[in-house]
Amino acid sequence: MIKKINLRTGKREEILDLTDIVKEIVKESKIVAGTVVVYVPHTTAAVAINENADPTVKSDFNNFMNKLVPYDMPFSHMEGNSDAHIKSILVGSSVTIPISEGKMLLGIWQGIYFCEFDGPRNRNVIISVN
Ligand code: ZN
Repeated sequence: MIKKINLRTGKREEILDLTDIVKEIVKESKIVAGTVVVYVPHTTAAVAINENADPTVKSDFNNFMNKLVPYDMPFSHMEGNSDAHIKSILVGSSVTIPISEGKMLLGIWQGIYFCEFDGPRNRNVIISVN
């Protein structure tokens, strides 16, 4: 089963929690044992798994990424979003989570992050349950 969801991000850099949406799609699929792939078909956004309890993890991550890849570095790409392309490469465009007894085997503190690096934009996320 493959589902496409639409998101609207509200800031240039933003992390949205996809965990509940993905959980719902896994449930709907009725797949008991398998995998779910969460894939972002964009070159300036990414997907990651990390802590979804303390929101400062997200802000620390964004602050760190901005120090690692500053917006105003002298890049060649003229679109003005090279930092976002590089952050997208570093974080990656998909995550895979095993499913057992109809549930994702996420750790207790783990959530699925959609990482926006060049918003606000309309975005898609592809969720494939097999
Ligand atoms: Zn670009």
